Amino acid sequence: MGRITGPVCRLCRRDGLKLFLKGSRCDTPKCAFERRPVPPGVVQRRRPKGTDYGLRLREKQKLKHYYGVLERQFRTYFARAERGKGNTGETLMSLLERRLDNVVHRLGFAPSRAAARQMVMHGHITVNGRRVDVPSYLVRAGDTLRVKNRAKSLQLAHAALADARRDVPDFLSRAEGGIPEGRVNRLPISDDVSLPIQANLIIELCSK
Ligand code: SF4
Repeated sequence: MGRITGPVCRLCRRDGLKLFLKGSRCDTPKCAFERRPVPPGVVQRRRPKGTDYGLRLREKQKLKHYYGVLERQFRTYFARAERGKGNTGETLMSLLERRLDNVVHRLGFAPSRAAARQMVMHGHITVNGRRVDVPSYLVRAGDTLRVKNRAKSLQLAHAALADARRDVPDFLSRAEGGIPEGRVNRLPISDDVSLPIQANLIIELCSK
C-alpha cells in the first residue's frame, strides 16, 4: 500500500481515534484512519485492552478534543449540565453543540471546528446582526448567524461551503446567497451530535 496519510492524519492513527482535523475529507472514504487505523510504520498492532476507567477517560478526552475545550471549561459545562433538569449526558452534549464555533462549522462555513474558532475570533461572524468573537458563545433557538459582509470573510466561508459535503443538521438551516447565513431552528438534542461519543461513559466518570 502506498503512502496514504499526511502529518495531520498520522495523529489520528497514532492516537487510535478520528480527530476530524481535515475538514470534509474526514467524512469520506479517503479518511486515512478509515483506510488504515493502525499507527504509522506499524504493520499490525493490537491495542491492549483498557481498563473501565481508561475507557471512560478516553471518551472524555475525545469529547474535549473534538470541541476544543480545556479541562476547566469542560468542568463548567459538566456542572451546568448536572444542574439542568434533564439527562446530564444529553444536556452536556447539547451545551457543547450550541457553541458558536461548533455551529459555524456545522453550517459548513468553516472546514473544521478549529478553523471555525479562528473565524469567530477574527470577527468574521455575526449573531443577530452583532459581531460575536467568542467561540464559546452559546447560540439560542431563533438566532441568525451571518458571515460578515467583507471580502476576506466571504472568501473563507465560500471556500468552505464549496468543499462542504456535510448535510446541515436538523436543528440548523442554511441559506447560501451572496452572504451565507444560518438559523438555529431549535436547541440541539443528542441525535444531532455527529461525533462518536458515548456521553454515558463520561457521566459515569465525572459523577464519582
Ligand atoms: Fe485524517 Fe481521517 Fe483524522 Fe480526518 S479523521 S484528520 S481524514 S485520519
